[in-house]
Amino acid sequence: MSFSKLGLSEAVLKGVQAVGYTEPTAIQVRAIPPVIEGRDLIASAQTGTGKTAAFALPILTRLKQHGKCRCLVLEPTRELAAQVETAFRDYARFTDLRAALIHGGVGYHNQQRELQRGVDIVAATPGRLEDHLNRRTLHLNDIEILVLDEVDRMLDIGFLPAVKRLVSLCPKARQTLFFSATVPPEIAQFAAWALR
Ligand code: AMP
Repeated sequence: MSFSKLGLSEAVLKGVQAVGYTEPTAIQVRAIPPVIEGRDLIASAQTGTGKTAAFALPILTRLKQHGKCRCLVLEPTRELAAQVETAFRDYARFTDLRAALIHGGVGYHNQQRELQRGVDIVAATPGRLEDHLNRRTLHLNDIEILVLDEVDRMLDIGFLPAVKRLVSLCPKARQTLFFSATVPPEIAQFAAWALR
């Protein structure tokens, strides 16, 4: 299988080439085409499988060019949010799409400035994201694609209530991508509510 057969845009294919990937991983082969088609997705995939590119590449293809803040990726930890934001920036280097990183434990000023500049994609942890929403430095009215990543870890950390509040603030007519290494009943129930 080659990346060029998956329906990715030229600019995104150039980005993939620049980061040095030659062949898509199993999850990328299976997830990229339906995400480009705009379908919701539930995937049981662990870190290390190429999961980030499996959602980031088709999302960048769909967003095409800079506009409103249309994609939100929720992550359980700062480290994961930072990795995802870096990956988006890497893959998007031949587009004008912009990604921002929102997490706690640091000041608000830089994050606020980033958001004011105008971003297409936000990678965030739930707590700080809610703070920004309360401060009105960001809103979720234009979100078209929502990624819930590492949902089982979000459940373990106790983030599920915050994640549910955030999902409720996103438009109903959206695409939702759901990733969890394991899918116990509580997570299956949450997926049934969040996905179409
Ligand atoms: P992830 O599962 O998203 O955390 O990715 C694990 C690692 O695999 C990261 O360092 C990625 O840069 C790398 N990676 C993702 N997709 C590919 C690919 N198709 N070929 C080679 N490396 C990849």
